[in-house]
Parts: sequence; C-alpha cells; structure tokens
Amino acid sequence: MHIQTVNWQKVMQSTYKDPHALLNKLGLSGIDSNLSEQAAQEFPLRVPQSYLENIKPGNPADALLLQVLPTRQEDVRDAAYTTDPLQESSYQPVPGLLHKYRHRALLIATGACAIHCRYCFRRHFPYADANPSENTWSGALNYLMKDKSIKEIILSGGDPLTLSNNRLSRLVELLIGIPHLKRLRIHTRIPVVMPCRIDEDLIELLTTTRLQPVVVIHSNHANEFGDKARQAIRKLYFARIPLFNQSVLLRGVNDSAETLTELSESLFAMGIIPYYLHLLDKVEGAAHFHVPLYRAKSLVQSLRETLPGYLVPKLVKEIAGETAKVPAELLDAE
Ligand SMILES: *Cc1c(COP(=O)(O)O)cnc(C)c1O
Ligand code: SF4
Repeated sequence: MHIQTVNWQKVMQSTYKDPHALLNKLGLSGIDSNLSEQAAQEFPLRVPQSYLENIKPGNPADALLLQVLPTRQEDVRDAAYTTDPLQESSYQPVPGLLHKYRHRALLIATGACAIHCRYCFRRHFPYADANPSENTWSGALNYLMKDKSIKEIILSGGDPLTLSNNRLSRLVELLIGIPHLKRLRIHTRIPVVMPCRIDEDLIELLTTTRLQPVVVIHSNHANEFGDKARQAIRKLYFARIPLFNQSVLLRGVNDSAETLTELSESLFAMGIIPYYLHLLDKVEGAAHFHVPLYRAKSLVQSLRETLPGYLVPKLVKEIAGETAKVPAELLDAE
C-alpha cells in the first residue's frame, strides 16, 4: 500500500511547471509569444501529466489548455478584479478556517494543489499565513469544538487530497473527536486532475469514519474525464460516497449549452450529480474568463430545456456578507 502512496507523491512532484515546455509538448510552440512571464510568476503554471493527456495537441483554444496557461490576457488590469474578491480574510475566526454559513465550516487543510487553475479565486491567497501546519489545525479544531452549531466540516484548500493519507487520517481522527460534527465534506479537483491519488487507503479512510462522507468534485468540461479519472471516480462511487460536482462558468472553456449539457451527461454517467455552476469570482488576472450574467442565465435556461431537472446545476455567485451562495435569479444585472 505504501508503494501506491509514494507513486502519487512522485507524480505530484513531476507536474509540468514550465509553460514553454508544455506548449512544446502540445505542438504549440508557435503561441509562445502569448505567454506572460508576469502571470507565471504571480501564480506559476502547474499541470499534472494525467491532465495534460486530456488536452488535445495542436489546438490553442483547447478548453483544458485555457484553464492552465498563463497568458498575456492575465496582465490586463480591471479595478473590479481584486486579489481577495470574497474578502475571505474577514471570515476567518482563526487562521485557516472559514465560517461563513450556518452549520458548515470550511477548513483550508492545505494551500497546495495538484493543478493551478488560472481563474482560481484563491490565486492570491496568503497561503503562507493560512497554511497547513498542524498548529493551524489545532486553532481550527478548538474553534470547531466550541461551536456546537457546526454539523459539517468541509476540507478544502488548496486541495485537501494533496495531503498524504497519514496526515489526512490524523486530521480526520481529530475531527471525529468533535461530537457535534456529522458530515465530512471534501472539496477536490484531484479525481479529475491526478486520479492516481484516489487509492484504496483513501477510500478506506473516507468510508470507515463515523462522519458521513461527501465528495464534491470540481470539473468544468467533459474532456477532463479520461479513462484514469473515470476509474478513480468509479472507486469513490462503488464505495457509496455521495458525489457532486461544481464547475465555474468560464468564457471560452464551457460557456455553451452543448458543452454544459455534455458535462452534466458525463457526470451523471459516472454517478456524479451536478451541484453548482459558479459565476466567476472577480479575481485579478481572470477578467477574460468572465461571462455576463444575462448570458449565464440564458445558458442555464437552455439546460433546463434539454436536461432532466436533476442534471441542471444551480447557477450561483459567492457574495461577501451573504448568508449563503446567491442564486442567479436574485442577482441584479451587472
Ligand atoms: C461554498 C462554501 C460553503 C458550502 O456551501 P454549500 O452551499 O453548503 O455548498 C461553506 N463555506 C464556505 C466558506 C463556502 O465558500
Ligand atoms: S484546484 Fe481549486 S483551489 Fe486549486 S487552483 Fe484549481 S480552483 Fe484553485
């Protein structure tokens, strides 16, 4: 079993970090001049081999490539796009724990991710302050212990599944000791971007605790599910772990009714229920991904007309100060 563990950690270390090498590999050296050194410095490129395998070579507009490539478009500054669009720093009662919504709290279990998504609203997050040391966990655990209204703990990040099974199980042990917690939710992009990490020990860890597990996957496009990702998801599915998906609506990536329909269909074929379709958080460097609200609404209306209701994700936006994610119907036109 330890061989498996060593394996994925090696895979994680051998991710692509050089944008030029990535383009070269995809036969796209011709668009080198579109890369931004500045963007790559602010938020480095990071792409695991298993994600690269799902990018179609030779297509500069590939929906997966656009999610990871640091381009000059990111250098365009727009005052509406800030470094902390959700003002997350003001919802941390203790470092590394976000308590915004009743009965749920979100633990930044680690700052690390297997992939770097250019639109990530935490791309400027001060990971160093809210980071993974076990000291940080202890502050968060104390807070959770004291607030008996919290029923569900969400492990997020970064990506919590970049933690080793040893560290995760230590964390889960501590959470089990908090009597009012009922559910353990994992927010992760790992099954899609680095599926080899979903090993048997992880499944055992998630299914043998008294906490009810829930896994919310993050994927944006049906092409993200190659054979390896499907296998990883099958493991979670056959372990009877409830599986949901959240996507971000991204211009050029998934802003068409066909793409979103195909995504929902693919998800359900694997046993995953579409949960949220997020309107973009206005984070500095991501303005080119913006889809206007009226278009987003009309896309979701098309989905309602072509998909069963349970395959239509909820179109939502995260707004600082609100008591829940806000459904698009309640948003004012921009
Ligand atoms: C999204 C989010 C949650 C979970 O919200 P649900 O609507 O239950 O999925 C919890 N805490 C924070 C800080 C969040 O951003
Ligand atoms: S996996 Fe999630 S947290 Fe990590 S960079 Fe992508 S969007 Fe951000």
